[in-house]
Formats: sequence, structure tokens, C-alpha cells
Amino acid sequence: MNASTIAVPPRLATAQEFGNYINGEIVVSRSGTTFDDVNPADTREIVGRFQASSKEDAQDAVESAAAAFESWRKTPISKRAKILTVAAEYLEANADTFARELTREEGKSLALAKDEFMRSAQTLRFYAVEGQSFGGETFPQDDPEMTVFSQREPLGVVTAITPWNFPVSIPARKIAPALITGNTVVFKPSSDAPLSGYRLAESLIQAGLPKGVLNFITGRAGDVGPTITESRVVRAVTFTGSTGAGEQIHRAVPLTTRTQMEMGGKNPLIVMEDADLDKAVDLAIKGGLSLTGQACTGTSRILVMAPVKKAFTDRLVAKIQALKIGNGLVPGMDIGPLATAKQLETVLGYIEIGKREAKLLCGGERLTGEGYEYGHYVTPAVFTEVTQQMRIAREEIFGPVLAIIEVASYADALAKANDTEYGLAAAIATRNPRYMHDFANDIQAGSVKINRTTTGNLVNAPFGGLKMSSTSTFRESGRVGLEFFTQVKTIYRAC
Ligand code: NAP
Repeated sequence: MNASTIAVPPRLATAQEFGNYINGEIVVSRSGTTFDDVNPADTREIVGRFQASSKEDAQDAVESAAAAFESWRKTPISKRAKILTVAAEYLEANADTFARELTREEGKSLALAKDEFMRSAQTLRFYAVEGQSFGGETFPQDDPEMTVFSQREPLGVVTAITPWNFPVSIPARKIAPALITGNTVVFKPSSDAPLSGYRLAESLIQAGLPKGVLNFITGRAGDVGPTITESRVVRAVTFTGSTGAGEQIHRAVPLTTRTQMEMGGKNPLIVMEDADLDKAVDLAIKGGLSLTGQACTGTSRILVMAPVKKAFTDRLVAKIQALKIGNGLVPGMDIGPLATAKQLETVLGYIEIGKREAKLLCGGERLTGEGYEYGHYVTPAVFTEVTQQMRIAREEIFGPVLAIIEVASYADALAKANDTEYGLAAAIATRNPRYMHDFANDIQAGSVKINRTTTGNLVNAPFGGLKMSSTSTFRESGRVGLEFFTQVKTIYRAC
């Protein structure tokens, strides 16, 4: 079906309206307008209505965060930590309810949605503890009358901008380290999945966060983006999203604004001739198709050694054709809908490009029959005879599309895996310790997986990309995730 013919169906019921949260109050936008958060599994359902905020609303959010900063940075760290812990308890206690909302607004399965809320709670707890021991150093020197030491201080107002694919866990790994280190925050979630971010903000507010410390504002990027990123009052912007948007924001901010841009990927899985092929197939399916191929670290290129290519591909296609596609609220579904109409259009567009460039082995069809008629469903597509120059091998698609590229040797596989502007995640399936060692050292990716999926990262380990996947100066997650939100001051003290 031609993407431009996708029709907008009638709406089902009146949805709840959600406000912005600015300066300790739930407020409506001065624009007087809202936008709809739509269920991608059934686009007749509006999950919630959110404020289509204006530049003036964005200015209010920045000013509110600025006004709250002095008091918050002097708030005892044990009190800041307690708020994160109570917020974590709230997310855990409400995980079943919030997970259903997340599935309805984004499309992922209930199990993945619940996991995301539990993981976000884990992130809050992690930073509640780690933040309390994140300090400076003392420096040995010659003067017995003097002490020289450094301390880490908060930056001030931090803006957090996040995508729709992990609408709770990504904001949590930005907001928790920002708050525990004494910053105040303006949080703008994706316009395509704002409700889960609202629940995260709610968890912190009910936990006792003072007014102005966290400001939640919804609205289209073009309306609120410049104010919350380019204002000189904003000291740092932590962003996760597409490389295009990240680059645009990075270029537009003032020189003194710190940026952390976590962006796209074109992540490879190398399958060596010695790999356990059944496991390699599972890595490709789990890494490439869970979240309907909409993970930034999702596998999209599979580089397979020529001698095992046929056996691998046959098993891959057979398993993919047995996957169940449907609404994430229904237990047992393997693949849900694409999250937005725009994403559906993009993915269908790339499938058409792929059909012209390479050979389609299976899938790539929009599902429109019973149960699918109001959702953004596409069957997973596997392309073979893909070469490096093809667009499906080079551009981020962000959907259930796998490109199989034949390789002749480990060196050939490595060169092709690295031949991309991106550097987010990469995996290899092999039993050979030599390949494991060399791959870890030579692959250009921030997350390296050996006999594991390209997707997935720990709360307590650093996360981020190389090359065009990240500005790379600061990592997210883990203890190093605190660094972005602090600046170092050195003090020479004599009495
Ligand atoms: P997106 O279109 O770039 O949007 C991400 C966020 O940025 C949204 O909140 C969006 O607001 C906002 N935004 C866009 N342009 C802006 C601007 N000029 N100023 C201020 N805000 C702006 O990305 P997406 O479609 O939501 O997410 C998919 C992308 O995220 C993929 O490329 C994926 O690889 C990437 N991603 C990366 C990671 C990682 O850790 N590296 C993790 C997850 C996803 P609106 O929603 O209002 O447009």
C-alpha cells in the first residue's frame, strides 16, 4: 500500500487531558490547544490529550527551573536521594497500570512495558545511592598550611529531550542523575508518547520534589524546542533522538551550553562460520525485531560468512515467518505495531527502496485484515544480496527490516561493519576467542556484544555511541552518567 494513502480513522471516546507541570502547578498551555496521543495498535483510540505548548509556556518552564536552582542545590543530598527512592517505589507500585498506558501509546508488549517501568525505578534507586558518593578529590602539595581539593557542583538548569521508543527509561537515566547532583530540569518528552514521561514526572512530584525543580512541558519541537535549548539560562541539554535533530540542536545552542546528544544507529551483527547458528538466528531476531525494530541499538545489518549464509538465512526466515504479530496488550505477541504513522510511512518507504536495490526474502507487507485494520502493522522484512552502497545498508530505518550482507572473512566483516557513519552498538556470534578479542578492540561502536544481542544495556554500566551516534563527550548510565551534570571547581584553602 502506498504510504500516502494511510487514512485517519474516526476517534473512539473522549480522552483525558493532561497539563504541563510548571513551577509546582499543573497548567494548561497559553495556546489553548492540545494534541492527541494516539494508540498505534488502534488509531481510533486517543490515549490522552496533551498541551500544544507555546514559546511563552516554554519560557515559563525555563524561568521556573532557574528560580528553583539555588534552593535545590543546597538541599541536603540525603533528602534529594530520598525523593528519588520514593519515586522509584511509586513507579514499582503502579507498574501494571502504567505499563498498559505505555503499551497503548507506543505499541510495545505489556511485558516490555512493565520491564521498562521497573528498570526506570532501578535507575532512580541507582542514582539515589551513587549520587551520594560522587564528589571531588584532594591533591597532595608542599604547603602544610594549605589544603587543595576539588568539588563537583551542579550546572544549573538542564533540559532533557527524549524520544518515543523508551519514553520512561531514557528520561529516567537523564533526570535522576541531573536531580541528585543538584540541577533543576525542564523535561520535554516526545509528542508521540508523552503519557509515560508524565507518569515519571508524577512519581517525582508526589515524592516531594519542591516546586520548580522539575518542569514537564509537552508540545511540538518547533514550538518549544528553541526556547528550552537556546536560552542562555539553560546550562546543558541532554537529548536522545534522531541524528538529524541532535545535530540541529547541537549547532544551535550557545557556546557555553553543554550538550549530550545520543542519536541513531545502523547496528551490525556478524555471524562467523563457527557460530552456533540457532543462537545466531535468535540474536538476529531478538536484536532486530523486538520493539518492532524500533530500538536505537537494534540489529539492522547482518554480516554472514559465505559458507554458512544459506543455512543461517533459511533458519532465520523460517523462524521469522512463525512470529505472531499483534496488539501488545494481547499476551503472546512477538511483534507489535510501528509506533507512529510517520514511522509506518518511513518503513514502508524503505521496503520499497529495498525491493528495488536487493532481493526480498520475506515480509515487508502492511497488514490490513481483521484485527489489523486500525493499526500500524508491517510484517518483518528480510533482504538478501545487500551490498554496502545500498540505502538499506547505510541509512537508519528504525523498523522490522533486516539486511543480510555476505562476507568472505573476519577482516571483510569488520571492514563492512565499520563502514558506516554510525557507531552505537555491534555484535558478533562466534566461538573463537581470537575473533572475540579482536572484535572488542577493533569495532567502532560504543556498545560491543559478544554472543549477545546488540540491544540491551545495564543501568549500572556506561552507555553511548561513537561517530554520528553520539557527541561522545559524556556517557549516560552507570556512575559516569553523573559527570555530564556536574562541573569541577578547584579550591586552595589556607587558614
Ligand atoms: P526525534 O524525531 O529526533 O525526536 C526526539 C525528541 O526530540 C522528541 O522529543 C522531539 O520532539 C524532539 N526534537 C526534535 N527536533 C527538535 C528540535 N529541533 N529542538 C528540540 N527538540 C526537538 O526522534 P524520535 O523519532 O522520537 O526517536 C527515534 C530516534 O531516536 C532514532 O533515530 C533512534 O536511533 C534514536 N534513539 C537513540 C537512542 C540512543 O541512546 N542513542 C535511544 C533511543 C532512540 P517532538 O516529538 O515534539 O518532535
